[in-house]
Amino acid sequence: MAVTSRHLTVVAVLALALAWPLLPPFTVTLFNYIGLYALVALGLVLLTGIGGMTSFGQAAFVGLGAYATAWITTSPLAAQALAGVPAALLPWLGLLAGVVVTLLVAWILGAVTLPLSGHFLALATLAWGISLYFVFGNLPGLGGFTGISNIPALSFGNWQLKSSRLFGILIWVLLLLLMWALHNLLDSRQGRAIRALRGNRIMAESVGVDTGQARMRLFLTAALLAALSGWLYAHFQRFVNPTPFNLNISIEYLFMAVVGGSGHLWGGVLGAALITLLKQQLQDVLPFLLGDSGNFELVVFGLLMLLVMQRAPTGLWPLLAGACRRFLRPARPSWQDASPVQLGARIPPQAGQLVLQAQAITKTFGGLVANDAIDLTLNAGEIHALIGPNGAGKSTFFNVISGIDHADSGGVSVAGQRMGRKPPRAFAQLGMARTFQHVRILRQRTVLENVCLGAYLRGSRGWLAAMLRAERHEEHALVLEAQRQLERCGLADDAERAAGALPLGRQRLVEIARALAGDPLILLLDEPAAGLRSLEKQELADLLRQLRATGLAILIVEHDMGFVMNLADRVTVLEFGKAIASGPPAQVQADPRVIEAYLGADHADYADAGEAVAA
Ligand code: ADP
Ligand code: MG
Repeated sequence: MAVTSRHLTVVAVLALALAWPLLPPFTVTLFNYIGLYALVALGLVLLTGIGGMTSFGQAAFVGLGAYATAWITTSPLAAQALAGVPAALLPWLGLLAGVVVTLLVAWILGAVTLPLSGHFLALATLAWGISLYFVFGNLPGLGGFTGISNIPALSFGNWQLKSSRLFGILIWVLLLLLMWALHNLLDSRQGRAIRALRGNRIMAESVGVDTGQARMRLFLTAALLAALSGWLYAHFQRFVNPTPFNLNISIEYLFMAVVGGSGHLWGGVLGAALITLLKQQLQDVLPFLLGDSGNFELVVFGLLMLLVMQRAPTGLWPLLAGACRRFLRPARPSWQDASPVQLGARIPPQAGQLVLQAQAITKTFGGLVANDAIDLTLNAGEIHALIGPNGAGKSTFFNVISGIDHADSGGVSVAGQRMGRKPPRAFAQLGMARTFQHVRILRQRTVLENVCLGAYLRGSRGWLAAMLRAERHEEHALVLEAQRQLERCGLADDAERAAGALPLGRQRLVEIARALAGDPLILLLDEPAAGLRSLEKQELADLLRQLRATGLAILIVEHDMGFVMNLADRVTVLEFGKAIASGPPAQVQADPRVIEAYLGADHADYADAGEAVAA
């Protein structure tokens, strides 16, 4: 039997469990700290490495978790308010309080900063991280900068977790369970949506993901992991003061994630282990070398980080995993054992029925009128081509009619509904799917995963179901659907390759397969044949004819006149943002304004078009 990474994980966990009673106390304590830090680093892996958001405030969330339980379990005020509650229950109330306060604070921070683009989240968490440190130090009742002591041990019934060895079991069992849940989450429909948050939000919205909600959830999850670590820390140390929750430590957590490998859950654990061990060594060595005034660790960490970024920009875990992968067989995907559900399918409208209507669309960029009062209709069962020289406004028009950009004036109706300023996912829900002129894919993920993402709206299970692997039936169906579309687009052999490794032309096909996986009624294709060889173009044309026959409405931007004129039922020509002609291909090609536009802009294109008609 060949070994998989899953076997390796089980063996490592068993080895740790068996060795646990025998490890020297100092090692146990070290392991406990690694586990506590790893919980926080795990949140940062999710937030930063996978979700593309940076937080400098994670240590402050750890502090919230720690101080909440410290206050509830020790303050006379809390004792008064909670008189009658058994003492053994207080730490659990402390956990509850920590979770509630953390959710509240993180939600407010997120609601204010997440909708803003750029570095607002990083700056806000920075400010929050700095200020909370002083709040902990100065708020009456929290023991000032000396802190709170006499925090009780955790107990389960009569059983007290007083020893470091017992407490470590709790830390590591929680850590491993959470890693399992997060691993499951990332390996699901919801996980694919999360992975698209980093650098692919427009694409994610266009397949139906509510990216604002997903970002908020990720931010809350990372904050909760930090607060949980803080709660454990408080009952492990039995003492808290503000120092471990200051900005320096937040930066150390970021180091952990980055050095370990912020794109991988295990990277968080590896980073936590490396930094903890290194810090411990440095604490012995540095004062000896440099005297004990000043915080030299951070300098050493900074240098270390530079070195890692230079040598292994994605962190150390991918190096380690890459080396191991040569000896490992890929694990059997867990959805294979679940029988697939039946995915819902749309009922296509009658051929000829109006499915998309754009009325007097005007869009300007500063002084430039990119779209000037453009009217366009698209019917079920037709291929409508949008042509025009570079810069004529075709891609801008696509963005406006798919909700990615909003028109200055004019309106779009999809399937009879006026869309106003609705987000792209509202268009996707009504059956619109699109590709992009500049390909938008998850380059590191497989072709299959990319196409599965297109079927996002055809699944319904949420984060919890994904974490608990309760959605495998649905996942199986989504994967089958993606495989069907890959087959259709001639990509079946590339399913397991990283999408970014394909030639550009085939990446466009991945986008088409992704669009089709959503079972659309309307398909918008922005230059789908660019980069394809002539045989592949023919195959694409065949596919589009076949799709048209099933009742799909297709709007296509394409420069290859031979391709377009042989395929399209109707052609609309844009020039300088204006629709100058619209009608059947032969009529449009004979239109004097079109001839002039093309002779003026690009003689060769029109010569192509003439040949195509002659052919
Ligand atoms: P096409 O797809 O027909 O080649 P585009 O729609 O991409 O044309 O662009 C139309 C015009 O609008 C071009 O002049 C382009 O430079 C301009 N444009 C497009 N997007 C933007 C933007 N985000 N900001 C400013 N100008 C833009
Ligand atoms: Mg364009």
